[in-house]
Amino acid sequence: MVLTPAPPCGTCYWCVRGEASSCVNSSAIMTSQFPDGSTGLSRGDEVVYRGVGVAGFAEYVLTQATGAVKIPDDIPLEVACVVGCAVQTGVGAVLNTARVVEGASVLVMGLGGIGLSVVQGARLASASRVIVSDPVAQRREVAGSLGATDFIDPLSEDVVEKARQLTGGIGVDYAFECAGRAELISVGVNAARNRGTITCVGAPPITQNIEIAPASLFVVSEKKLLGTLLGSSNSLHEIPRLIGLYTAGRLDLESLITARRPLEEINEAMEDLTASRGIRTVLEI
Ligand SMILES: [Zn+2]
Repeated sequence: MVLTPAPPCGTCYWCVRGEASSCVNSSAIMTSQFPDGSTGLSRGDEVVYRGVGVAGFAEYVLTQATGAVKIPDDIPLEVACVVGCAVQTGVGAVLNTARVVEGASVLVMGLGGIGLSVVQGARLASASRVIVSDPVAQRREVAGSLGATDFIDPLSEDVVEKARQLTGGIGVDYAFECAGRAELISVGVNAARNRGTITCVGAPPITQNIEIAPASLFVVSEKKLLGTLLGSSNSLHEIPRLIGLYTAGRLDLESLITARRPLEEINEAMEDLTASRGIRTVLEI
């Protein structure tokens, strides 16, 4: 089983339209509660919430039926566990949200687990040019092994200028903000060509805003700004699809796992995450 923080109810307005990532009854990702507001867990009189929506750091988990997605028995769980958030979000942003077309040019800003999954999504979509930007050299290297073709260090190079230069002065067809930094959305807007698409995949702090000039962005340039949550997908369908791509050798999950630690070292694992050390640490019981 792979757990999903967005269990679809299957019956709301969005679910019946095939837009399950917007399910109005799927509150686990935001509140760690079931649709009725309960958590099913308590310590004395105190309500206990599932950490990060799915209680992924616990040995036992309480979830609704659609929160656990069945995968084939022969898939190692320590590999499958990275699919349910980062890979689903990144690959889905490319295939389902932006719908990158064959031969396109793509800019990926931020190369954490999600950004690297966008790179893999771009490769799956047969993009011809996958330009990546991240200040960490090791992450740019991993991106190269996953399909990136051109590399930008944003600390020493101008992302917009380099992206335009690499596309013959035109700008990229698709830009993806994957670092969770609002100002990078503007960078993506400027790096995208007229009629290009900018997809906001990262989640900037809720207090951050961006300024956009609608006349030049939407009218004169006809650019498109898209939002995406969990790859705009239904986890019950998407997770098995991604596992299928992994089994077929078309999706690299192992490269995203840079460390394995016992559950007792969860604090060290969280420190690695905060300090951007490695990509994904898998906690093993
Ligand atoms: Zn629903």
